[in-house]
Amino acid sequence: MSDIIIGIDLGTTNSEVAILKDGRVTVIPDREGRKILPSFVGIGEHGDVLVGEPARNQYILYPERTVKSIKRHMGEDLRVDLAGQQFSPQEISAIILKRLKAIAEDYLGHSVHKAVITVPAYFSDAQRQATREAGEIAGLEVVRIINEPTAAALAYEAKTGTRKRILVYDLGGGTFDVSVVSIEDDVVEVLASHGNNRLGGDDFDARIVDHLVEHIKREHDFDITESRQIMARINRAAESAKRILSDQPFVRIDEEYLFEKEGTPIHLSLELSRYEYEQMIAGYIDETLEAVHIALRGANLTASDIDEILLVGGSTRTPVISERLFAEFRKEPHRNIDPDLCVAMGAAVQAGMIAGESVSAVLVDITPYTYGTSALGELNGELYPYVYVPIIRKNTPLPVSKTEAFYTSFDGQQEVDVRIYQGEDPDALNNIEIGEFRIKGLRNVPAGNTITVTLDLDLNGILHVSAREKETGLSKSITINNAIARFQEEEMGVAKARIDALFEKAIGTVATLGQSEVKEQQHTEVTARALVEKAERMLEKASEEDREDMIDLIEEIRDGLAKGDLQAVEAAMERLADILYYLET
Ligand code: AMP
Repeated sequence: MSDIIIGIDLGTTNSEVAILKDGRVTVIPDREGRKILPSFVGIGEHGDVLVGEPARNQYILYPERTVKSIKRHMGEDLRVDLAGQQFSPQEISAIILKRLKAIAEDYLGHSVHKAVITVPAYFSDAQRQATREAGEIAGLEVVRIINEPTAAALAYEAKTGTRKRILVYDLGGGTFDVSVVSIEDDVVEVLASHGNNRLGGDDFDARIVDHLVEHIKREHDFDITESRQIMARINRAAESAKRILSDQPFVRIDEEYLFEKEGTPIHLSLELSRYEYEQMIAGYIDETLEAVHIALRGANLTASDIDEILLVGGSTRTPVISERLFAEFRKEPHRNIDPDLCVAMGAAVQAGMIAGESVSAVLVDITPYTYGTSALGELNGELYPYVYVPIIRKNTPLPVSKTEAFYTSFDGQQEVDVRIYQGEDPDALNNIEIGEFRIKGLRNVPAGNTITVTLDLDLNGILHVSAREKETGLSKSITINNAIARFQEEEMGVAKARIDALFEKAIGTVATLGQSEVKEQQHTEVTARALVEKAERMLEKASEEDREDMIDLIEEIRDGLAKGDLQAVEAAMERLADILYYLET
């Protein structure tokens, strides 16, 4: 089939090519299996043209022979100098497109002549025209230019009977765009767009670099900004640390033999926490959220009118972005499709539609549920021992591995219970507990000892959980088989119980406890245990008289719990709480 149309995402940092065939979208890998082509073009030592990875690798060494981010200049009447030769932005882009065309032809085994190419929604006519010309120079008939947010929406939802309004939040390496897209049947329309084409993951890297430069200045009284080579290493280290912080709460940045000072080799070894990193980039994230509101206003909509939020661009893997969007929209953003690939996939869907292929939404393996653990925290303004802390969120592509940090809550705490739940409720006890274990023998140190909890969920729904004392590496783990299917069964069970309870109410039986009473009882038990733990921790602080009262009350509570006498438990709790309140103030 030689009239196949390929879909191309011609990006500032990276580019991809995809096809739709027999209803399936494939992002085409090169012979090494790489699906992402860095948008770098260079001239090698022997005058050969370099595209992608090799061009990127030589960028640091020979910037005069390498071009990056040419997309920023599309539509401008300028020439870039490459190893002494002059090129227009169209020509540089054409070199990238030619490589993508060749990758597709190699994969398909026949030549390709037609393409759909994506551009940012804000691109002007001149910029779109330049993109078309780049295609033609590369030997491709550009059958359509489509907007990137449109492509993203198509990758998720090629056809929908009802009208949907989708917010596409696209944060790449160097640009940020947000668009409000309306989709109905196969008509996709961009209602409003806003953004900043000078904001992206590169700025996040730069904040980490600044932090490292300052650290080295402070520790070694040495300014590394003078050396391009050292800065190149630091840049790479910062980018890699940033990626790790998307999945881990801490990262150690180790660069050995970074430089020599008075004959002594200096190594860099510094830990960075996700929390510190989030502080560094907070201003940028605020800026993107302001743009989101401007786009909403532009579309005459409010947050509640948005049906879906789609994340596009590699930088949206930064967890704080989903968290902030969730807080504003009360909707979990979709990440079902790799944010690096979703624009190319949408371009392929559009290409397939033009070629007359039948299209349905792109299917990928994702986790349909959120998995997490519980910790002491605040719920509805009160201290509560079972606040749910999601670790792997719903709609994340599989396989996935995520780690979060927790801290011991009292001095000398040598054990921690790790409970694993599935569900979305902020109160962990309203979710389904799917596993539990205890890690013992922690160091005898003040409260705040760091424990990391890692969840790995694979394509078969097997969930591997491990907890680790950060300082010593002491760890313990469990494997929960069939985590996804099991939930479905249990969910069925809960639904059945709920319906059964309704029936019981309807026919007026009061022999068994209703659902809400069960919950209340659980709540009392949990709070009672938390109160007892807290009282035990405060025994030392109490006067002799209070201590005796406290011990008596703790006994009463334990007794009541053992006998199931909730009234007695509640009465003792009230008196104990009074004493604790008095002790704390
Ligand atoms: P794009 O232009 O969409 O390909 O996005 C590239 C940007 O995404 C670069 O700044 C990358 O450093 C960034 N990026 C890629 N993977 C991750 C990750 N796991 N966490 C944070 N940023 C990432």
